[in-house]
Amino acid sequence: MSKQYSQKVRTNPTSSVPDRPGLLFILSAPSGAGKSTICRAVLDHFPDMLYSISYTTRPPRKGEQDGVHYYFIAEDDFTNGIERGRWAEWAKVHDNYYGTSADLLDRVLNGGQDIILDIDVQGMRQILNRYPAGITIFIMPPSLQTLRSRLEARGTDSPEVIALRLKNAQAEMAQKELYRHVIINDQLADAIAELIGIIEKCCS
Ligand code: 5GP
Repeated sequence: MSKQYSQKVRTNPTSSVPDRPGLLFILSAPSGAGKSTICRAVLDHFPDMLYSISYTTRPPRKGEQDGVHYYFIAEDDFTNGIERGRWAEWAKVHDNYYGTSADLLDRVLNGGQDIILDIDVQGMRQILNRYPAGITIFIMPPSLQTLRSRLEARGTDSPEVIALRLKNAQAEMAQKELYRHVIINDQLADAIAELIGIIEKCCS
């Protein structure tokens, strides 16, 4: 399922001193674990929470829009960005580059706004080096078989891509202990409620 988020960055976050720096939530999950659906529900629940739209060299899937689901950029632009320190973190996932804007994160957090990043395990490690207070959450599918069925039902990837995603999923799931919270997405409503509960506790 595709994401559908708007960016609600405060236009002038430095105009007033925030009560506290923004909180940084880092969400990771294998493709097909239900992360996008959970993330969307959480953003609906917390209207002031921002979603960090990643930059990627992956071609858009059907229905994905530039600047909404991702910023789709050329490989040259991405690698130039690496040289210029444009990314707070970046990784090559499934043969494509993905990265998070360092400028956006700094602006948002300094402005006291909370933000969610949907990134992979490699990115999470880099973000924690840069922002050690980041709150990490891993979403697990109930089983690999469920993951396979969800990826097949989604119908967006070829069998080869699904095989690659399943291989990467296993490698990612083996690292779930690196995360502060692990949520098993067996029942969607329960998984959403659990994540909302974690965020509320952090914000209180
Ligand atoms: P997809 O191509 O299915 O949208 O995403 C593939 C993987 O890339 C997912 O695990 C997703 O979390 C990860 N990803 C998306 N954006 C970023 C990013 O900015 N940085 C990193 N490190 N991973 C990302």
